[in-house]
Amino acid sequence: MIIEAHFLITRSSRAWMSRGACLDADPELFFLDPEDSATHRAEKAEQARKICDICPVKVECLLWGLLVSPDDEWSIFGGTTYQQRRQIRRDLG
Ligand code: SF4
Repeated sequence: MIIEAHFLITRSSRAWMSRGACLDADPELFFLDPEDSATHRAEKAEQARKICDICPVKVECLLWGLLVSPDDEWSIFGGTTYQQRRQIRRDLG
């Protein structure tokens, strides 16, 4: 199933990106700044998560983060941080 999702995401257009709930939001919430304190980054990630929770393409975005951009340490994908996506990958084996 994961491989199928990867195929669909990488072979299809990136049209889902144009439907993200974050399009009109502050981009700084979704691209965390490593220079910020951990507390400030956590606050921004929490604000981003609230937007992601109502996003119609949350699943596509999460899969993108997991499968296409697995090394992106500073972006929010599908409401998750890099650390959370690492945990998801570990859980999936
Ligand atoms: S899930 Fe979050 S980061 Fe991804 S497109 Fe939607 S709002 Fe943007």
